[in-house]
Amino acid sequence: MIALLNQIPSEVKIRKHLRKIIFGSHLFCPHCHSRKVYALENRYRCRKCRKPFSLLSGTWLSSMKISLRTFWALLWCWTQKVPILQTQKLCHLSEEAVRHWFRQFRLHLPDLEPILQGKVQIDEAYFKSLSLVMAKQAGSKKLAHQVIFKNSVNKSEASQFLFQYIQPKSRLQTDGASIYKNINQWWQVKHKVDIHKKFEFGLTSEIEGLFGNLRTFIRRMYHHVTPEYLPEIVAEFSVKFSRPEIFDSPLSYLEKTINPVPFDYRHRKTNSSIIKA
Ligand SMILES: [Zn+2]
Repeated sequence: MIALLNQIPSEVKIRKHLRKIIFGSHLFCPHCHSRKVYALENRYRCRKCRKPFSLLSGTWLSSMKISLRTFWALLWCWTQKVPILQTQKLCHLSEEAVRHWFRQFRLHLPDLEPILQGKVQIDEAYFKSLSLVMAKQAGSKKLAHQVIFKNSVNKSEASQFLFQYIQPKSRLQTDGASIYKNINQWWQVKHKVDIHKKFEFGLTSEIEGLFGNLRTFIRRMYHHVTPEYLPEIVAEFSVKFSRPEIFDSPLSYLEKTINPVPFDYRHRKTNSSIIKA
């Protein structure tokens, strides 16, 4: 049983939130779209086509086996960066279960498809057997990144990254790494270089600060990450940075990641009096 905390609403309230997100203001049968449905314990049945359905049956949460309050508590912990061990204790779940749910939340985040422009800072970070190339549009929350499955980055990989994520005529700001030497002969950018040996860090300070935040985030929240999950965790970190509003609360996350059950507009005629667009 989850503790009674203000940030975790009652089961009834959570069902209300989910119902509103998934069905809008009026419940309807996801099979035939009839509004003539009735509740049967925690499920529904359609009077017209007789088929049963549940609140979550059309969503990515359809096979959920935990209670709605436990689910909400997990999601609250994840959005608020509560470490895995703390979450286990609050939710009375195993480490495996918490990691499983945090992964589900992460995998259902919206994709960012960024093309960066203007002043763009690029740098690399290394995690044992993996390398990360990340770019940040200076003065903005726009990021692009790519995980490379080996412990170094070569010129061709750096160029590929530019082709995909950096708009031509951008101003590229990097450290003195040799992979960016003469990069403007491969992609149309103006290239500026900081020489770290001379204590120049201004051109890449935003991206380097971000790498520091990424490492802290991984260590505090996940404690450790195996290489197979690192690309997902980096993606989670990027969305957190670029779209912080998604992480305001469980409700804001769900509003942005659960698709409403599609309502077929051909049924509008017969039911028009009770449909809200
Ligand atoms: Zn039906």
